[in-house]
Formats: sequence, structure tokens, C-alpha cells
Amino acid sequence: MEKSFYDNLAQVSLNGDTLSVDLCKKILESSEIELLPLLNAAYQIRKKYWERDVLIHILDNVQNGFCPEDCHYCAQSKISKAIIERYPFKSYEEIMQEAEQAYKRGAFRHCLVFSGKGPNDQRIAELVKIIKDIKSKYPMEVCVSPGTISPEQAVVLKQAGLNRLNHNINTSKRHYPQICTTHTYMDRLNTIKAAKKVGLQVCSGVIIGMGEDADDIIEMALTLRNINADSIPINFFIPIEGLPLKASKVLSPDFGLRVLCLFRFLNPSADIRIAAGRELHFRNMEVMTLFPCNSLFLNGYLNAMGSSDKKTLRMIKDAGFEIKSEYNIDDLLNHKDIKTIEIDRQINTINLKGKKDLHPSCYNTEAT
Ligand code: SF4
Repeated sequence: MEKSFYDNLAQVSLNGDTLSVDLCKKILESSEIELLPLLNAAYQIRKKYWERDVLIHILDNVQNGFCPEDCHYCAQSKISKAIIERYPFKSYEEIMQEAEQAYKRGAFRHCLVFSGKGPNDQRIAELVKIIKDIKSKYPMEVCVSPGTISPEQAVVLKQAGLNRLNHNINTSKRHYPQICTTHTYMDRLNTIKAAKKVGLQVCSGVIIGMGEDADDIIEMALTLRNINADSIPINFFIPIEGLPLKASKVLSPDFGLRVLCLFRFLNPSADIRIAAGRELHFRNMEVMTLFPCNSLFLNGYLNAMGSSDKKTLRMIKDAGFEIKSEYNIDDLLNHKDIKTIEIDRQINTINLKGKKDLHPSCYNTEAT
């Protein structure tokens, strides 16, 4: 393709216009569209809204496992045989300690994640206190991923000062029954709409590599455009042993980067995050994900390990990006407690988190 083709892609997106489904399909599937100029076109858009900033997100599984739902991709579901550590709600003290740690590790946003279909009102009341206390102590945004919530609960969370609510659409409407039977796609959309209605920012993402086709991926990106998702974490399925869902053969670094570019073209101003599977599926091309995406997770994912802090921060710095944090990236890299656990070992190996990774504040953070 001529240079003008790629320039036009960027311009259409920057103008706020959408791309035709045929063109979206070509971006995903056609070798006529070359990867490097495509990434550059996506980067022009990223640069307009996010400059060279990378936002660091750190997840805290405040409740892990024991979920009555059957999401086939999730190690915490009732049908998963994955060997993970299960625990109910962490104590208030532990959650606060972990928020402090996240802040000191450069987090722009701290994400509190719960297993389960959704919280009762007592859990919402506990969350209100946690949100208020974290925000009063640390200059850091808070995101909560509580599962399905009612419009009334959305109001309470908004009044508590919550910045953002996460509820992923995960896949397309058509494909949803293939990945979950205990709740519906519309259940998910209703929670997202309730959050939007009260003025919460919405984080809603997808998981690529669960048997969906190109049309499904395009539909996901367009759905998130239509609901005006503020934040879009794009996960690439991690086939943890014991999950009913098996590894997809379609994932490659080239395909993954095309997916990220497509989401950027269709959601130009969104906080687009390269999420789970970054290390596993992008391998030596991992750094290229920063050109369409402006944020990532540090400290791995819910139950799977990711790269060490040091490797991730070094990658950001070496590629000429900056982190948006109270902390300077060099200070973080030079900090004596920086995590350098060498899971930067086998990129093709899936490593589950252990107790010390899921409850980090119970342990000291000496470099290992
Ligand atoms: S509802 Fe959440 S925690 Fe439960 S199985 Fe589905 S994704 Fe996992």
C-alpha cells in the first residue's frame, strides 16, 4: 500500500470518523497492509491524545476464586481446574498496604478486582470506605472491578469518589454464549450503562484468542466505540492449565499488533491498554505494543505472572516513552526494592502467581 493509504487511515480516525467493516477486516487479515506503517499510523493517533506517556496500572485481586460463574477463560470460575490460590475478601489493612505499594511502584491507577458475579450492598459499603481512604492518602486514581452492579450501587460508588469502573465485554455478542452460560452479554452491557449514566469513567475490555473471528473482533471494537469506553484493556488469552478453553492457534505478534491498531483507529482517544498475554503472545515484539497502546499492567495479571517491574520499566524507557506518575522512571529503576524476579525467563511458559505475588504486602520486597 502507498504511504497515502496509511496517512488516510490516521486522518480518518483523528477526524472522528469510523472505518468500513471491509477496511477493518483488511487491517486484520491482509498482508497488503504492512505492519510497520500501520503501527506508525496508529501511533500518530496515540501521540495526539497521550503523547509519549505510558500509564502504569497495578492489579490487586482483593478476592480470588470461589466464583459461581462459568466464564470458560477464567481460572477462578466454578468449572476451572486450574490450581490457583483461592481466598475471600482481603482485610482492609492488607488492601491499604497494597495500595501504598502500588503507589510507590509508580502506579497511575490502582485496580481492585473481585471474583464473583457482583457485590451485595454490604460489600459496596466496605468498598466505599476503601476507595475514600486510598484516595485521601495517595495521589492515584482508583478503579474497581466488582462484577455486575445495579444502578443504585453505581451511584454509591460514584459518590465515594471512584474514578473508574471496570466491566469487560470480553467478546462479541454473537460469541458470548460460547464463553459463558451463567450470565449474558446484556447483563454486562447493563452494568456498563449504569456506570456511564452516573458519570463514572468506564473501563471495558476484551480477550482475544477465544475462538472468535475477525467479524467478532471488529464488532467488539465498534461496541466499545459506541458505548464510549474511556479505557479498553486488550487481553490476549492465556491458556492456563485446567481451563476449559484451549489455546488459540491464531495468535501471533503480527496479528496481535493489528488488533491493537484496529482498536486505536476505532477508539482514538481511549486509554488503550496492552493487558494480559503481553509477554506470552508478543514475545520479542512486545515493545511494539506501546505504539498503539498508551498503558499496560505492571506486576502481571490476575493469576498469571508477567515480566518483572524492572524489565517492563526498562522497555518503556528504552523505547523513549515516559511514565505518568509522581515517580521518575529512573528513580524507580534504581530503587533497591525494585522487583527483578526473573520470570523474564521462559517467554513461552505460563507461570501462575503464588501466595507472595497475590499478597505482596505480607512479604518484604527485596529484589530476588
Ligand atoms: S465472573 Fe469474573 S471471576 Fe467469575 S468466572 Fe467470570 S471472569 Fe472469572
